[in-house]
Amino acid sequence: METTASQRRVTMEEIVALAKRRGFVFQSSEIYGGINGFWDYGPLGAVLKRNVKDAWWRDTVELRDDVVAFDSSIVMHPSVWKASGHVDAFHDVMVDCRVCKHRFRLDHLKDREKCPDCGAKSSFTEPRNFNLMMKTSIGPMEDTAALAYLRPETAQGIFVNFKNVYQSARKRPPFGIAQIGKSFRNEITPGNFTFRVREFEQAELEYFVPDDGHDMEAFQAWVERRKAWYASYGVRADRLRFYELTPAERPHYARAGVDVEYLFPWGWGELESIAHRGTYDLDAHMALSGKDLRYFDEATKTHTTPLLIESSAGMDRTTLTMLIDAYELERSVDPNGKSTERVVLRFHPAIAPVQVAVFALARNRADLVERARTIERELRPVMRTQYDEGNIGQLYRRQDEIGTPFCVTVDHATLEDGAVTVRARDDMRQARVPVAGIAGYLLERLTQ
Ligand code: ATP
Repeated sequence: METTASQRRVTMEEIVALAKRRGFVFQSSEIYGGINGFWDYGPLGAVLKRNVKDAWWRDTVELRDDVVAFDSSIVMHPSVWKASGHVDAFHDVMVDCRVCKHRFRLDHLKDREKCPDCGAKSSFTEPRNFNLMMKTSIGPMEDTAALAYLRPETAQGIFVNFKNVYQSARKRPPFGIAQIGKSFRNEITPGNFTFRVREFEQAELEYFVPDDGHDMEAFQAWVERRKAWYASYGVRADRLRFYELTPAERPHYARAGVDVEYLFPWGWGELESIAHRGTYDLDAHMALSGKDLRYFDEATKTHTTPLLIESSAGMDRTTLTMLIDAYELERSVDPNGKSTERVVLRFHPAIAPVQVAVFALARNRADLVERARTIERELRPVMRTQYDEGNIGQLYRRQDEIGTPFCVTVDHATLEDGAVTVRARDDMRQARVPVAGIAGYLLERLTQ
């Protein structure tokens, strides 16, 4: 049998349809017509996203002795956002088309004369600033005194706690503080599925280093570490780029910046930004709060403000990347010339929502069902499993489409020879494996 992967790239329509059909992502509040810029993760999507976050956490926090964990509140004192510059400068410039009433971000328009949606000429309103922070109010009075914001990034919670953390964790730069959490932005034009949304999760690492001339090495080391991370989860190298920002493209205070971008079906899109931010953030909070956030540097015997290397990755965008990158439409032709197609998600086993599916070949055979259910129950504590039964072709098809690396089938022969058929997702090869050794056989292949 000859197998070829289709050269055609998956479309967003196919990804959205698959995501809904198999329970990865649903439109938020769908029964009420949905709400623009918000999505819900279904049973498989919730696990996929959790696995992506765990993979980031493992590499950024657990495998390091110089990074500590953090979890700050979503609503903070409004002064936090004043100091950070978000109140005054966190806005996009928008225009409306007077004819079709559609709204656009000015910097997203290729042609500022003609509306891309209805084609009208010179139909745009004057550009207006639009602050992206979502407002809420605290307590029973909805007056200006109660105004607060939902955080547009998680990082500020780390900066304002810098001193609390280094003192309690007994750390001195170089060391990092990491957190994963929800952020909110009132995006003018949400779109491209879960790529640009109004509620999303960020994984942020704030790595503080002494101002001793080694800061650019620390920056480069994080860029390399993040490169290795994407590669280790199998993201295709030809669809990933690390774009180095020019001085003109960086904020004035930043000393270096790299955007991690993935080639989505609609073009390149940012997954993560890695930046050398100097002392900008701590300086800003020291200036407005009047509190000293410096640390005592033993080498220079002075109170110093550390430099900051930041890696800020979007977990929804990374999860979407994993889904798109794993997708393959494969065509097989058997020796008789009969061709079949299958959709397969080639997830890395560490992030696949289901790692092993266990089947009973015949639904009406209680002894096969019982045997298969027992095997699945025994595997469950050590890998992510699912039990199913019925037509083997349909079962394989479904598991391929959700990216399950291995399927284990209990058939009539199992009752005699004590062995099961293990079928691998990627090459569809089958092996007969004794039930007694099945956990070891699968674990070895899932973790290699
Ligand atoms: P963009 O230019 O796409 O609006 P940004 O440069 O404003 O993004 P950052 O402020 O650098 O984004 O945020 C860090 C990361 O957070 C981004 O790389 C992205 O992965 C994620 N992120 C930011 N905004 C959104 C959003 N609206 N929806 C989903 N993820 C987002």
